[in-house]
Amino acid sequence: MIDLHTHSTCSDGTDPPEAIPELAAKAGCRAVALTDHDNLSGLAAARARADELGLQFVNGCEVSCLFKDRSAHVLCYFVDEDEGPLQDELARLRADRVKRNKLLVDKLRNEFGMQITYDEVVAEAAREESVGRPHFAALLVRHGAAESMQDAFDKWLGAGKPAYIPKARVAPEQVARLARASGGVAVLAHPYSLQLGDGALAAAVGELAEAGFSGIEAEYGRYTPDERAELRTLAQRAGLVATGGSDYHGTVKHDLSVGVGQGDLRVPDSMLEDLAARRPSPN
Ligand code: AMP
Ligand code: ZN
Ligand code: FE
Ligand code: FE
Repeated sequence: MIDLHTHSTCSDGTDPPEAIPELAAKAGCRAVALTDHDNLSGLAAARARADELGLQFVNGCEVSCLFKDRSAHVLCYFVDEDEGPLQDELARLRADRVKRNKLLVDKLRNEFGMQITYDEVVAEAAREESVGRPHFAALLVRHGAAESMQDAFDKWLGAGKPAYIPKARVAPEQVARLARASGGVAVLAHPYSLQLGDGALAAAVGELAEAGFSGIEAEYGRYTPDERAELRTLAQRAGLVATGGSDYHGTVKHDLSVGVGQGDLRVPDSMLEDLAARRPSPN
């Protein structure tokens, strides 16, 4: 069993990157990927720990995309950590994230009278570049503006809510190009987030396959067995690899554990082998 979708303090997870392989080994995983939002900075520490534990480690990241006006998350795997076109794009996204976060603090203060400071938000995260809306959500709860993290998204931070400020997003086709140019592959994360009906989702998956995607995430921590089966079928029809992972975030998504998700997740090793076979050949 493996886990190809996890987050650390290098984005909005609550465990340091080196803890991810430890949790994966405890859960009985043979391989694990770290897929922080917009950055690769946790990979070195996570890989070093995975090596010590005898676990296969896969470089990854998760990029927020816009696909026909819809939010789509794209997972990249096997990417080079060194400089490259994907790295450049990630740097641009991180800069825009920081800008969005500052605007969001201004909005919460000036329009909604909340006594939140930028320093306070940054203190929630390990680093300024790691700050995401979940950190804001935690702060809103602490300031009494929301009852729970989910309530903070429902009342304030979610798309279309009063304090929503969009950040830069890339086209998925572009991410696939950049991932491949960096030696990696692209996979559509949690496909039901696109909120498309069955036919439209199948068409979208077909288009992504044409655009150079290698897989879609089917075995996802929060999906039901029926949903996972449906997505495996979609992947197969489009000639794509069905991948899987928990989307572990530590205590901010307390229902999800590394490897087993909500308890019933078992991502087979073969998914990683099939995905690795799609890597671009070096030339
Ligand atoms: P950011 O990248 O900073 O915009 O934050 C995105 C993260 O916020 C996602 O990865 C989710 O973990 C979380 N998130 C976004 N929208 C919602 C929502 N409506 N409800 C709960 N969590 C959400
Ligand atoms: Zn996240
Ligand atoms: Fe995601
Ligand atoms: Fe994720």
